[in-house]
Amino acid sequence: MTPEFEKVLSWGGSPQATCSCGRVHYTSGGDFMEPGELAGLEAQHKEKPDRYIPTGDDSVSITTFNGVPYVWQCPCGALARIENLFWAHRAQIIAYYQARTQRELKEATDNAAALAGVSNVKAEPRPSKHET
Ligand SMILES: [Zn+2]
Repeated sequence: MTPEFEKVLSWGGSPQATCSCGRVHYTSGGDFMEPGELAGLEAQHKEKPDRYIPTGDDSVSITTFNGVPYVWQCPCGALARIENLFWAHRAQIIAYYQARTQRELKEATDNAAALAGVSNVKAEPRPSKHET
C-alpha cells in the first residue's frame, strides 16, 4: 500500500484487531489489554505464528472498508489489492466522477431554475398604498 493511498483511508488503532483474512494482530507491549490477554495471544502466537502476529508499534492500524476490517500491516495484502483495483480502473473512475458531477450539476441547475422566484420566507406585510 502506498503512502498516497493511506491518506485516502480513514483508520483507527487498537491493541488487538482481526483482519478480514482471519489473522489476529496485537501489540507486543500489551498496553490497554485486559489482564492475561497478552499472555493468551503470545501462547497462540507460539502455536500459530502466521495467524497471531505481534507488532512492536503502539497500536494495530485498522481500516473498515465497506463494513470489512483490514489491518494495514497484514501479510494478506488486502488493502494493497484494493488500491491496485482503484489504480487499474482509474480512467473509468475519473470518467465516473466527471459523468456523475455533470449529471448532478444539471439536476441542481434545473432545480434552481424551477425554484426561481419561489421563497419559503413569509413576505413582510406590504405597506398600503396610503402609506407610501
Ligand atoms: Zn489480513
